[in-house]
Amino acid sequence: MKFGGTSVGDTEKIKEVARRLVAAREAGFRVVGVLSAMGDTTDELIRLAHEISPKPQAREYDMLVSVGERISNALCAMAIYDLGHEAISLTGSQAGIVTDTVHGKAKIVEVRAQRVHDSLDDEKIVLVAGFQGVSSAHEVTTLGRGGSDTTAVALAAALGATACEIYTDVEGVFTADPRIVPGARKLAALTYEEMLELSASGAKVLSLRSVEFARNHDVRLHVRSTFSQADGTWVVDEEDPVLEKAIISGVAQTDCEPLFRVREIDAATLFARLAAASVNVDTILQTSMEEIVFSAPLEDRDACKQVLESLGVEWSMRDDLGKVSLVGVGMKSHPGIAAKTLATLGGIGVESQVISTSPIKIACHIRTEDVPKAVAALHEAFELERA
Ligand code: ASP
Ligand code: MG
Repeated sequence: MKFGGTSVGDTEKIKEVARRLVAAREAGFRVVGVLSAMGDTTDELIRLAHEISPKPQAREYDMLVSVGERISNALCAMAIYDLGHEAISLTGSQAGIVTDTVHGKAKIVEVRAQRVHDSLDDEKIVLVAGFQGVSSAHEVTTLGRGGSDTTAVALAAALGATACEIYTDVEGVFTADPRIVPGARKLAALTYEEMLELSASGAKVLSLRSVEFARNHDVRLHVRSTFSQADGTWVVDEEDPVLEKAIISGVAQTDCEPLFRVREIDAATLFARLAAASVNVDTILQTSMEEIVFSAPLEDRDACKQVLESLGVEWSMRDDLGKVSLVGVGMKSHPGIAAKTLATLGGIGVESQVISTSPIKIACHIRTEDVPKAVAALHEAFELERA
């Protein structure tokens, strides 16, 4: 059971989370909780680091930002004792979350779950600090923003859990962002592939890496609200009987995804250099030998600029564009989705600068100011408010 930052935002909420964990224990389950840091604690720690130093030393950065999760998990363990149950909070390191040595963005390479198993055998509710681990070089590492989701999924996989429940401040995964589309509908279920595409396209409910991990290890995810008992959204394998078999599952958006045009460069050289700078390239287009167009997430914009400057090539960038993405496994076998998408955008006077697709996604780069109305129009055209 993983609880996000807003679910543990203050001590009253932590007591509520403790009650939920205890209720699961009393229902007969062996329970492992993974808590995020309280509220915006992590943001505050990162702010402190940058106030001290323009480029904080990587090891010390991880020592610092991993602290938030220790606080929330220790407090929750205390609350569980007061409810008459035993609990133990563990750091990522104590819980056996072993990672590579990339500070700030570490990947989990192994979970040595013996201590968690032992504590469960002792009838304890085990709480694990999310977002962190210990590297093969014995240093504390963190997993990147939103990393507690990945901690939870990795533990669920290692322990052979029935499911990994992700408790959050929304009811589940919606057909669109309800702040943009008031009629957006909570999905009962969707596939790992769809969730991967939605997360990669701007849906914030689950971190991308946690979904990848769940798919690779076949962990069923249940995204649900901390503040209600209602069922949320299941994220499962394509063969799972809970699926609705809809053609389109949802629309996701990003407000800004910078688009770069580069002239007269060998594509292999360009992308090797971008990869070496850890840029996560999204769309790539090449229609002639003279020009390559690619997009990258906003947080990688400066790294891209540096690479292009150092290559000494002719380039330009637009950052007045966002992206709308329509996602659904049914697209694989239904023609006409691209046609309808483009007709819908054309109908409201929105022009696509770049169109990219995967077997289950159509994504259009459009002007940032057009993003909300494009999301609403696509949601309506594909009748996503109806189950
Ligand atoms: N506290 C970390 C963050 O804010 C990890 C997480 O909440 O998943 O990114
Ligand atoms: Mg999160």
